[in-house]
Amino acid sequence: MPELAEVEFYRRQWDVGLDAKVLQIALHPRKRIFRGTNTRSLVRHLTGTKLLRSTARGKQMLFEFSGENWLGLHLGMTGKLRVEPPAFRAAKHDHLVLRQARRSLVFTDSRQFGRVRFHHGALHPEWWPAELPQIGERTFTRSYFDRFLDRHRRAPIKAVLLLQSGFPGIGNWMADEILWRAKVAPARQTAVLSNAERAALLREVRFVARESIRTIGAEFSDPPRTWLIHQRWKRGGLCPRDKRKLRRATIGGRTTAWCTRCQR
Ligand SMILES: [Zn+2]
Repeated sequence: MPELAEVEFYRRQWDVGLDAKVLQIALHPRKRIFRGTNTRSLVRHLTGTKLLRSTARGKQMLFEFSGENWLGLHLGMTGKLRVEPPAFRAAKHDHLVLRQARRSLVFTDSRQFGRVRFHHGALHPEWWPAELPQIGERTFTRSYFDRFLDRHRRAPIKAVLLLQSGFPGIGNWMADEILWRAKVAPARQTAVLSNAERAALLREVRFVARESIRTIGAEFSDPPRTWLIHQRWKRGGLCPRDKRKLRRATIGGRTTAWCTRCQR
């Protein structure tokens, strides 16, 4: 499932189409991916507009077009954005194609847990979480982080890190990476974490977000070899620090990998 950095990678794919006009739109209006969206209105409004800019918040993306038009994309589990030649023929899972003179901007999603939304209006759509502090922004402070943890005192910290209302874009592998780096066991209750452990967690939340955007987000290259991600799903995966066998269990509803010696 795409997390922060993967979303950033896909968002940038359409950058080549910035400042160019959308000449024609092809879509599959009956597909689940357009649930709740008026596709006729989307086609009518977006045709002839220019792609102005895009932004990502957590796992959501917003593309702004001229004439006060907004396209929201969520990748779900299998969504991808890519660029094809202008005369490219859409395949079965290419549910939305924006044709420009020199290229086609394609959104594809085989399993359709993703979503396409459209909004026409001067202000950004109401479903866009513009106020939600993003990791790496100045509003994502220690006191914001503490308040969020305090609201979920009984939950295991792994489950809290997966909450999109507090940690937009953090998914399963990033949460495991953060906990491993901060040396905190995933099943620990938020309430019992020490001040030093909270500080370490916040530091690693920022670090993992920044570094994964720098590597995966920029060109889908791998994070450094020393990261847990490379061992997580391997059979007999080892802790990169002390080479002990990783432990696995379901925590917060997700398969979790951790080192029982490094993480307390
Ligand atoms: Zn270890």
